[in-house]
Amino acid sequence: MATIFDKILSGEIPCEEVYSDEKCLAFKDITPQAPVHILIIPKKPIESLKQIKEEDNELLGHLLLKCTEIAHSVGLESWRTVINTGREAGQTVFHLHIHIIGGRKLNWPPG
Ligand code: AMP
Repeated sequence: MATIFDKILSGEIPCEEVYSDEKCLAFKDITPQAPVHILIIPKKPIESLKQIKEEDNELLGHLLLKCTEIAHSVGLESWRTVINTGREAGQTVFHLHIHIIGGRKLNWPPG
């Protein structure tokens, strides 16, 4: 079934785009948890980290490199990258995504 992020990728629903290339799309989270809250998703439909394969190695590295570029581009000195995997861990959209969160002091451990 198409997730909300598939619909964003297809243009069916809009997003506030931050970055895009042939492999990924980054956009602002609709319910920001901090002054900066950006999501980066692969264009390839992968549900979560549970489904990654050896062939996704390069794509996953690409996503992390882009997280750093995006964090720098929006002026962050410190930030947190989060990947929720599975419902109990807080995953609500089953299309792999990395949260980039920053712009305020972040507490640890998370709830
Ligand atoms: P997670 O709980 O890790 O699966 O994260 C899903 C994230 O997607 C949440 O932070 C939501 O606020 C965000 N989200 C849901 N729908 C949209 C949307 N249409 N545009 C941007 N972000 C969204």
